Amino acid sequence: MSSDVAISVRGLNKIYSLGSKNEKLALNNISLKVQKGSIFGLLGPNGAGKSTFINILADLVKKTSGHIDIFDMSHDEKLKDVKKLMGIVPQELNIDPFFTPYELLEIQAGLFGVPKNRRRTNEILELLALEEKSHAYARTLSGGMRRRLLIAKAMVHDPEILILDEPTAGVDVELRANLWANIKNLNKRGKTIIITTHYLHEAEELCNDIAIIDEGKLIAKDTTSNIKSFIDRKKIIISFENYSFDLDSLTNLNLEHKIDGDQLIIIYKPSEIKINIILEALRLSKIQIKDLSIKETNLEDVFLKLIKT
Ligand code: ADP
Repeated sequence: MSSDVAISVRGLNKIYSLGSKNEKLALNNISLKVQKGSIFGLLGPNGAGKSTFINILADLVKKTSGHIDIFDMSHDEKLKDVKKLMGIVPQELNIDPFFTPYELLEIQAGLFGVPKNRRRTNEILELLALEEKSHAYARTLSGGMRRRLLIAKAMVHDPEILILDEPTAGVDVELRANLWANIKNLNKRGKTIIITTHYLHEAEELCNDIAIIDEGKLIAKDTTSNIKSFIDRKKIIISFENYSFDLDSLTNLNLEHKIDGDQLIIIYKPSEIKINIILEALRLSKIQIKDLSIKETNLEDVFLKLIKT
């Protein structure tokens, strides 16, 4: 595969129920590239258009307009070839409970027309740490194992690109780390990985590159470290006794702050101002502090910040 770009999307639009009164613009002129060998995170709140994007790649939803190339092959013109290059891991955990993982992978390989002598059923089960459950009924698998089995199913035709829709939704916290390790392992073996997620932490942990979409629009696309610099913001929440203080000391520091009921909320950039300087300003303000907490910025805050600019 000569191209360094696994997926190139240009001017992608999707309008559901086009022409009806329920018309919905779900993707609005999205252009992005996914580099070969990367782990690419597609982030956004519920309803942002993530599933629509993935479903278009998977040919489950038809785009309204735009161009998609998979390794320089047109998604429109070479759909059959392009589909062989992608393995899609759906969000839901529906697995036929009466088959074993081994049988399910064999059936899937059959559906993809993989000849018996080229099947790698045991190898894939091992890769996803399912070998001990190869011959157990799928209904006896835990949530994390089911998710890994769905990844295994998406790999039977040895696709170059694995696309995972919310890979850790419904997975226990302790199994999440294990799943991330599996995903990283697949990436080390050369697979290009795309994940959708609304957990910023998951994207931080896994992804080299991130695109953020909101209401169908691409609002940011960069390396994970550059995106992180967007969220160089923390929030201090102070509950106070009574409003008899003077906030000039905060204003003098150019700190974004507001009063919300009996709380003072301060937003600051940890890279630019040390917390002890803020505490000193608070001391000068003579505020009577009942309670104080510091919140890391979450994805929601990033959206607010990005949408504002
Ligand atoms: P996400 O995966 O980011 O939660 P979706 O791609 O599922 O977002 O949805 C994007 C928007 O398109 C939402 O407003 C959703 O209600 C709408 N939408 C999704 N599927 C359909 C559909 N089949 N018909 C009409 N609207 C849809």
